[in-house]
Amino acid sequence: MLHRTSFIAYGLSLFLAIAAFAEPKLKALVVDGQNNHDWKSTTPLLKKHLEDSGLFTVDVATSPSGTDLAGFEPKFADYQAVVSNYNGAAWPKATEDALVAFVHGGGGLVVVHAANNSFPEWKEYNEMIGLGGWGGRNEKSGPYVRFKDGKFVRDTSPGGGGSHGSQHPFQVVVRNDKHPITAGLPSAWMHAPDELYDRLRGPADNLTILATAYSDPGTGGTGEHEPMIMTIGYGQGRVFHTPMGHSPDAMRCVGFIVTLQRGSEWAATGKVTHTTIPEDFPKPNEVSVRK
Ligand code: ZN
Repeated sequence: MLHRTSFIAYGLSLFLAIAAFAEPKLKALVVDGQNNHDWKSTTPLLKKHLEDSGLFTVDVATSPSGTDLAGFEPKFADYQAVVSNYNGAAWPKATEDALVAFVHGGGGLVVVHAANNSFPEWKEYNEMIGLGGWGGRNEKSGPYVRFKDGKFVRDTSPGGGGSHGSQHPFQVVVRNDKHPITAGLPSAWMHAPDELYDRLRGPADNLTILATAYSDPGTGGTGEHEPMIMTIGYGQGRVFHTPMGHSPDAMRCVGFIVTLQRGSEWAATGKVTHTTIPEDFPKPNEVSVRK
């Protein structure tokens, strides 16, 4: 005969299991369709990483090719986070306005790698991403942000925005471990071979740089500690910006996966509940990737 307390315990655990199962997931929308990168290979990885967190369901909005994107109007308002894997032609004004309203009103935006090359002329987009590169960006776009003597400073000196040396593994170093995205993470890890974006520049308002990577002149870099993981506040909304993720292999880095999951949850909700550090998280001098 089943003891009464174990019956109650059984009932409670069943209830909790059902409650966990019924917990509505966050909804994310990956936007792609134009990119000077292999978006057809990287979007499925972004989707998989977010779904593997158990937190998200993910839809994809793919733009037409070409410069006339009339009718490309993803319903951003149906989601908690919009993930940009897009670097291409300008969107219709209504679509730009809808993204601005979405983020300003409290939505989350996730900016991955060359998404920070996009839309050099779109003022609000550059405010949302904080820093960007290429597309004619220069001192008129805003400052560089440099890590000097333990703090971040704005550098308004003239020069182009956006460059990188040869692809190589590089160490990501946490500079702010108080933020929910980085709290409890190892203080440094070796990121899989990737482009190390340097000389990004932009409005850099409400910008918090959580991690940097040293851009070694020996691999064609700047000799600076370049911003690698960033958040930007925009109205009531939150932006998570990672300049990493040039290729599918770079996106298979466990450090990329974990920070994308945490950053996307934070962008969507302002919190990070996905705090478990996986066993295969990279070591300070050792790359770890998931095939
Ligand atoms: Zn790239």
